[in-house]
Amino acid sequence: MKKYLIIGNGAAGVNAAVAIRANDKTSSIKIISDEEFNFYGRPLISYYLSGQVKPENIYYRNEEFYKSKNIKVLLDTKAKKIDTVKKEVLTSLGERISYDKLLIATGSSPFIPLIKNLDFNRQKNVFTFLTYKDSIRLKEKITGNSKVVIAGAGLVGLKASEGLFGQVASITVVDLADRVMASVLDKSEADIIQEHIEQKFINFKLQMSICEVQGKSSVSEVTLSNGETFDCDILVVAVGVRPNVVLAKEAGINTLRGIVVDEYMQTSIKDVYAAGDCVESLDLFSSENNRVFALWPNASNQGEIAGFNMTGAKIKAPKIFAMNSISFFGLQLISAGVISDSRSSGVFVDSTKNKLHKLNIFNDNLIGFVLINDNQRAGIYTSLINDKTNLSALAYDITSKDIGFNVYSAEERTKKIFDCNGGY
Ligand SMILES: Cc1cc2nc3c(=O)[nH]c(=O)nc-3n(C[C@H](O)[C@H](O)[C@H](O)COP(=O)(O)OP(=O)(O)OC[C@H]3O[C@@H](n4cnc5c(N)ncnc54)[C@H](O)[C@@H]3O)c2cc1C
Repeated sequence: MKKYLIIGNGAAGVNAAVAIRANDKTSSIKIISDEEFNFYGRPLISYYLSGQVKPENIYYRNEEFYKSKNIKVLLDTKAKKIDTVKKEVLTSLGERISYDKLLIATGSSPFIPLIKNLDFNRQKNVFTFLTYKDSIRLKEKITGNSKVVIAGAGLVGLKASEGLFGQVASITVVDLADRVMASVLDKSEADIIQEHIEQKFINFKLQMSICEVQGKSSVSEVTLSNGETFDCDILVVAVGVRPNVVLAKEAGINTLRGIVVDEYMQTSIKDVYAAGDCVESLDLFSSENNRVFALWPNASNQGEIAGFNMTGAKIKAPKIFAMNSISFFGLQLISAGVISDSRSSGVFVDSTKNKLHKLNIFNDNLIGFVLINDNQRAGIYTSLINDKTNLSALAYDITSKDIGFNVYSAEERTKKIFDCNGGY
């Protein structure tokens, strides 16, 4: 009987545990989590904040699930040190847990930029927005009079603004970039999102940063890089995340920006695997560079593959590309692959008010797309990117409005249906 140990009870860790149990009915599986909650949906924390998701509905897995799969979860317990020679992990409770196969699925942590006088330990009204606990604390603190400042106009900052909408006096979002969601959108698409959010009286201060805050036990005022100052009752810092690699690094495991893994999700040390936001993944668009993709589907897939491989399977992780499917105040956005105009030989844009359909084509391949309020063909486009399909070989022009899976030949369609059902 083997001993499987997983550090992290998020999408990667839980999917790994399920995959292990599917292949190995009897061995022991333990998950260590430094959070106090069962597996919940991180993307749901803004809906908890807004009140749209009730506490009982934020969980993806309950105690019964872990029990039925015979998976032991140690909540509120931090993995402090990994000894890869003795094959054991030291926890914050002083326990040494031995393993035959270990998965590191530690996710990422919020990046905190240098802001003069900002002190998370001292100031009681500053928050990050990554965990359910962050959202609970924030919800407890806000009032109808709160003037909220959010540092960061990326996905998480915007989701925080949506969660707070209607519950506070004002919301101002500050970002260094000239547009919202700068890492995934070009200006034309970003402007549509920004204008839509502005209709909800959320203010944007772009191409600016918060350089200083005032206040000892609480932040009372922020100063922007252009010298402007304004009152602040709540400050949310959401300028991005960094992979949690320290535990792996201190154990002698190779790390760059993220934990380095091979195509089977194994780290540089035998029997130690890693998956999710904490790893560098194989990038479909770059054979030299791996990238950290902080995305839910990626974490789930990698966790599953790592789990199977820990039981002895040999499944290769596919190369991946960024993909976001999200809504802001009812505006649907799907973006995938490379969307920057600078890397394309043809951009097809069809936009009307609050609607956009952009395809990015390079060397006769679809390399990315952005769809706003127009998501019907997302599946087919994703498939074309994934397969690196040569567009000239298709039966239809993909910029045509009427395409569906009929862009593929009958033979290709049959193969795709078979692949979908084949699974592992
Ligand atoms: C507000 C918000 C909205 C989002 N929306 C989307 C979205 O729409 N689409 C999308 O694709 N992605 C979205 N994401 C990102 C997505 O949630 C992450 O990519 C995903 O949760 C990563 O899963 P993971 O298992 O790798 O890491 P995590 O979910 O971060 O889980 C890692 C766990 O390990 C724990 N841990 C870390 N170190 C230790 C240790 N030493 N000992 C014990 N436990 C430890 C952490 O506390 C955490 O519980 C969103 C994120 C946020 C915050």
